[in-house]
Amino acid sequence: TKWVYSFGNGRAEGRADMKNLLGGKGANLAEMSNIGINVPAGFTITTEVCTHYYANDRSYPDELARQVKEALASVEAIMRCQFGDAENPLLVSVRSGARASMPGMMDTVLNLGLNDQTVQGLIKRSGDARFAYDSYRRFIQMYSDVVLGVEHYHFDHLLEILKEDRGLTLDTELSADDWKVMVERFKARVLEETGTPFPEDPEEQLWGAIGAVFRSWMNQRAITYRKLHHIPEEWGTAVSVQAMVFGNMGDDCATGVCFSRDPSTGENVFYGEYLVNAQGEDVVAGIRTPQQISLAGKTKNKSTLPAMEEVMPDLYRELVSIRDTLEAHYRDMQDMEFTIQGGRLWMLQTRVGKRTAAAALRIAVEMAQEGVITANEAVLRVDPEALNQLLHPTLDPKAERIVLTRGLPASPGAASGRVVFSASTAEDWVQNGEKVVLVRTETSPEDIGGMHVSQGILTTRGGMTSHAAVVARGMGTPCVAGAGEIRVHEADRVFTVRGTTVREGDLITLDGATGEVMLGAVPTVQPELTGDFGTLMGWADDRRTMKVRANAETPEDAETARRFGCEGIGLCRTEHMFFDPRRIIAMRRMILAEDETGRRAALADLLPYQRKDFIDLFTIMTGLPVTIRLLDPPLHEFLPHTDNEIAEVAQVAGVDVGTVRDRAAKLAENNPMLGHRGCRLGVTYPEIYEMQARAIFEAAVHVGRESGNAPVPEIMIPLVCTKRELDLMKAAVDNVAQAVFAETGTTLDYTVGTMIELPRAALQAGSIAESARFFSFGTNDLTQTTLGISRDDAAAFLETYQAKGIFKRDPFATLDADGVGELVRLAAERGRATRPDLKLGICGEHGGDPDSIAFCQGAGLDYVSCSPYRVPIARLAAAQAAL
Ligand code: ADP
Ligand code: MG
Ligand code: MG
Repeated sequence: TKWVYSFGNGRAEGRADMKNLLGGKGANLAEMSNIGINVPAGFTITTEVCTHYYANDRSYPDELARQVKEALASVEAIMRCQFGDAENPLLVSVRSGARASMPGMMDTVLNLGLNDQTVQGLIKRSGDARFAYDSYRRFIQMYSDVVLGVEHYHFDHLLEILKEDRGLTLDTELSADDWKVMVERFKARVLEETGTPFPEDPEEQLWGAIGAVFRSWMNQRAITYRKLHHIPEEWGTAVSVQAMVFGNMGDDCATGVCFSRDPSTGENVFYGEYLVNAQGEDVVAGIRTPQQISLAGKTKNKSTLPAMEEVMPDLYRELVSIRDTLEAHYRDMQDMEFTIQGGRLWMLQTRVGKRTAAAALRIAVEMAQEGVITANEAVLRVDPEALNQLLHPTLDPKAERIVLTRGLPASPGAASGRVVFSASTAEDWVQNGEKVVLVRTETSPEDIGGMHVSQGILTTRGGMTSHAAVVARGMGTPCVAGAGEIRVHEADRVFTVRGTTVREGDLITLDGATGEVMLGAVPTVQPELTGDFGTLMGWADDRRTMKVRANAETPEDAETARRFGCEGIGLCRTEHMFFDPRRIIAMRRMILAEDETGRRAALADLLPYQRKDFIDLFTIMTGLPVTIRLLDPPLHEFLPHTDNEIAEVAQVAGVDVGTVRDRAAKLAENNPMLGHRGCRLGVTYPEIYEMQARAIFEAAVHVGRESGNAPVPEIMIPLVCTKRELDLMKAAVDNVAQAVFAETGTTLDYTVGTMIELPRAALQAGSIAESARFFSFGTNDLTQTTLGISRDDAAAFLETYQAKGIFKRDPFATLDADGVGELVRLAAERGRATRPDLKLGICGEHGGDPDSIAFCQGAGLDYVSCSPYRVPIARLAAAQAAL
């Protein structure tokens, strides 16, 4: 087996499409090398070795050592130096790289191969002892942290002591001898901490680092990141070993990170940051304030430091041409890392850049308009889930803002919440129902859990490419980075800025689009849905075959859904209309009534409310279909609980408290989810469904008269499992329809159909379709009843089930295609065999989930229905499913 792939010198054994084997980083290093871009030579150990490592008790395949040795020899030949050589040493970096990029989640070791002998060679080669000892101590620090488990603070502490002794404040003031002393003290500390001397043998160092990178696949933050991004554990990481180039060898050296387009807005400008005389990690770690690459970026960020375009114009032009080459080659926005050593430019990484939703839209639309990609590709490129970021409110431009300070606009969007200073506090507070903004000097990969639950992230150090900025953009969380005027006093849980003190728990607002940090919660407004958004959604609508409806019952929700482009209502849950405080009393009176007369009296009170609801809904949805589900929840849910509630009902109903209490006790259920609910209510108390049907028909007639555009109500009977249930309910509805038509002297079209949410209904779909004009798959209940799992009680074990690989995804979030999906497919087939024009839709939560939508396309559904805010997501997902 080939376990190792070499690259360098304009050639490579790998290619960009070998990401599964070489990881994203390794595949792209190979590709860049192949297309003639200057890349330091190296080799990639495949992800299969990672798999082998974990499957075989953390050991390597037999031939690996020999293949690594050969690959290393070829790097030595290309770079004209020798690994471990005291005269002219080759130094390498050992880099992680999975199939999907997981920025900063796994480990990298730089400057590997240094020891007391080779450092002499580095001094000779660079003519700079200070640089050589600084590199050496950086290596010890990084290697000890990553491989030996001796954490950074040990070394930071030793460095502080030395600086204090020498009366120095900045690292740059330290001399070669100071760094040499540091090297000795660092090594002594490693011996103290581990009981073993720091490894001097470069070979041992190399294998130590390779093992550490493989192990970092299983570190906690990588596991968390994979979970958040649905990255399977089986993928494993590759390890790239690459000749070091140095951005910290003097003022003709630099290192930087850049994007071929602005990752925040998507604007087609070259965008990035760099540092003169620095090593890679320094830019991302946010230790020094980076400088802008282009003059355009400098203006935009109001930077006062000179741009690379001014300082190194020739290298800048070379970089611009590489940017053009790479973007054209990959046909997508690239995120690149480079280092300049002694005036020579080296590319260290390129990948498809992470971007905000707004940028994703703009880049997709503009690249299609530029002819770089097709409109189909543009539609496929935008993650439907990411649209979420664009649909939510932004800060009201007219609202008053108490601006505390301004940082970099690192990830757009508005966020208000209570200030917290640690990721763990963020998690605790959010557990307790608070909304928080995480404020940190800078974030690190350990903070990932807390960042995820925060409304917004504010850092005082670091640039647009800092950890906080990159991760926030990936999560779609608003972020302001590098707000340098803020002083965080973590111990006192306050921050101060321009004389104002803000405490933990105080409300602040971030505007991730402008970088403003404001005191208090600033009001928001609805977003604009035109421009690039409109263009892309237009392309999506032209391509999809399924309709998208909304689950909505209130006028507000219905209006939101229409604004977001829904094509009707797929599920109007009539019970939500009864929970209103003014109505619930009548509802309670109805269900607690001793007999039909009592029930009818209470229902008569509810009728005008219900009619008004439908008039509103039909009016908002003029011209579009509306599916109304008759009462579904267990009566249990409406029972009065507190003494107050019981007294209230007793009073309105004119009976004594004891009677109400007895009746309520009699109606209480052990397992309401499988109890007296759905059409079982209609079967036992037909007057309930009759009242609802009357409200629907009277409202439809009314709206038809007012607007001249009569609605076509689709009346849906819930929880049916036999044809007979549906027939009874349909007859009741038809009777009411005839009565209303006779009373009003009008008729209108309507249909009666059913939810398919019980396995028996799915199996009997062929016979049920004889009476049903449409099916709507109620996949929330269908999942509960197929899996025999109560959704409300699943939290206790679902996580474990996912961790142990029993469920790949939460079946209540993404449709279980093999089980529940099988029933959906079967019901669709059997139903259509009986009635070829049977209309099929889905109205569970799954109707707004892109993967489930793809399933629905395959099952031949006519429409999906989802919550209003997910309508655009579903429109795009449906287009992608159709392509
Ligand atoms: P990550 O995946 O966390 O970005 P990388 O493997 O890209 O980790 O390494 C981090 C940084 O280390 C890079 O951005 C680069 O600046 C620096 N680096 C890695 N390899 C080399 C190398 N061969 N020469 C110089 N710098 C390197
Ligand atoms: Mg990198
Ligand atoms: Mg249901």
